[in-house]
Amino acid sequence: MGVQVFGVEGLPMIKKGDDLCTLICTRIAFENGDILSIASTIYSKAKGYTRDLASIHPSQNAREIAERDHEDSRFVQAVLDEAEDILLDTPFILSAMSYGHIGVRSGVDRSNIENGFIILLPPDPMAAAAEMRKRLKLIAGKDVGVIITDTCGRAFRRGQTGNAIGWSGMHAIRDFRGDQDLFGHELKITEEAVVDEIAGFANFIMGESNQGIPAVVFRGCPPWLGHDQLYFTRNEDVIRSALKACESAKDKDK
Ligand code: GDP
Ligand code: MN
Ligand code: MN
Repeated sequence: MGVQVFGVEGLPMIKKGDDLCTLICTRIAFENGDILSIASTIYSKAKGYTRDLASIHPSQNAREIAERDHEDSRFVQAVLDEAEDILLDTPFILSAMSYGHIGVRSGVDRSNIENGFIILLPPDPMAAAAEMRKRLKLIAGKDVGVIITDTCGRAFRRGQTGNAIGWSGMHAIRDFRGDQDLFGHELKITEEAVVDEIAGFANFIMGESNQGIPAVVFRGCPPWLGHDQLYFTRNEDVIRSALKACESAKDKDK
């Protein structure tokens, strides 16, 4: 039967206080086992995780980074405010959020919101996904998995893709360790980040500009088993360690 994918059409401009689940449920009839992928952008707009640039007073540090990166210092201040750790500050800020996600400019966006305003990532995307899943059960009476996405850059390759930053009702990772391949070799390290694969395809359906499709439904995905440790721990993350080492060497040179 295959997997079916639907973009949810006709959603309005989302404002603070909007009930996303009701808006989505009036446009799609959910079935048990569906997966709803929504852009973090609309979750944040609905919850008011946005800021008015005019209200932000940049620190000296924000002004220095802004000068080097050719950015608005108020925007840089907002990015610093969202970050738990800065991995790189030039030519752009690469930062870690408290819940484990690492993103360019802390995932703060200036697109798809009125001029002069910015959109932050939800502060607790796992809780956000769990809350939406619960609400969908209440409104539609169906068991629906939820993935909250953001469009992210990546290392080594040009081009952004959708990543999962919060999920509920499924495991993040499909664990193949211990399985045997076609030749009977035991797989020792293969873990597949399924939530990111779904987020990536959802992002393709959403687009990035004026498509107006912030929600995508997947029907018929085969179930998978695994675990939720999507983010490396600091000790495991060799790239994060290498970036931090480079930054501290630069600071010593100053
Ligand atoms: P992000 O990937 O979470 O940063 O979100 P994007 O800004 O890339 O938007 C993803 C999709 O959602 C695009 O199709 C946008 O046009 C759409 N979108 C963003 N905000 C809204 C909104 O308030 N209403 C509707 N209907 N679509 C939106
Ligand atoms: Mn974004
Ligand atoms: Mn996007």
